[in-house]
Amino acid sequence: MTRIHTFPPMPLLADPPAWNEVHAVGLPPREVGRSYLGNSINLYHAMRANILVLGGVHGDESEGIFLAQLLLRHQSEVPVLPCLNPDGAMLRQRWNGRNVDLNRNLPTPDWKAEALNPRYPPGSEPGSEPETAAFLHAMDVVNPSMVLSLHSYGDSFLEVERPPDSLPDTINILADEMVRALKIERKNSVGYPTPGALGSFAWANGLLVFTLELKRGASHNEIFDILPIVWRFIARANGERFSA
Ligand SMILES: [Zn+2]
Repeated sequence: MTRIHTFPPMPLLADPPAWNEVHAVGLPPREVGRSYLGNSINLYHAMRANILVLGGVHGDESEGIFLAQLLLRHQSEVPVLPCLNPDGAMLRQRWNGRNVDLNRNLPTPDWKAEALNPRYPPGSEPGSEPETAAFLHAMDVVNPSMVLSLHSYGDSFLEVERPPDSLPDTINILADEMVRALKIERKNSVGYPTPGALGSFAWANGLLVFTLELKRGASHNEIFDILPIVWRFIARANGERFSA
C-alpha cells in the first residue's frame, strides 16, 4: 500500500518546522517530483542561482535535513531542496522507499549495476528512481554551477570534490574559511569509488560539489549554531560561477 504524505515528516527531529510556513518567507515551493511512495519532493526559492543546497539524499541523515530547513527559512536568495528522500526520512533509513541508495543512482558514465557494498544498492539502472528524476528536474530549474549537499557522518568534514589546484582562489578561500570556522577537515574525496554518486555526476557535467558531512547525532542547537557560518559560505559562493 502506498502511503502519501504531502509534507515529509522528520521523524528524528523533536520539533519539525511547519513546511507550509515557508510560503511566507520566499517563493512558494515548487514540486519537482514525487518519491516512490508518493511524497512530494519540493524545491524552495526555485530560481536560477549559482549554487543549489541539497539535503536528505540519505533519509536517516536528519542533521542535514534540519540544516537545510534552517537555511531555507533563513533566506530567500538561494534555492534549497531540503529533503530529496522523504521516504527514507519517514522510514528512518538511508535508502529510498524501495531500498536504493540515491547517491549511487545518478546517470553517470561510471554507474554500475552491482553494489560495491551491500550498503550502496544502485537501483536497476542509472537514474531509475523517481527521486533521481526530481533532482535532475531541480538542476534544470536552478542551473547551478555548484551544489552543496548536506549529509551526516561520524566525523564532520567538508569534501570538495575537485583538487584545490583546479579551483579558483576565491572558492578555495571560501571553503578554507568555512572549515576553519567549523573546526573540521577539508577533504578532496571520500577515498573510495562512488559510481552513480553526486561527485561522479559533477565530474561528468562540469559541476562543483561540496559535501558537508555534519556530525552524526548533532543536536538541534549545535546545528543552529553553525547556521551563520554555513550561510556565509553559501551566500558568497552564490556570487561565483564555477566553470570546469
Ligand atoms: Zn549521506
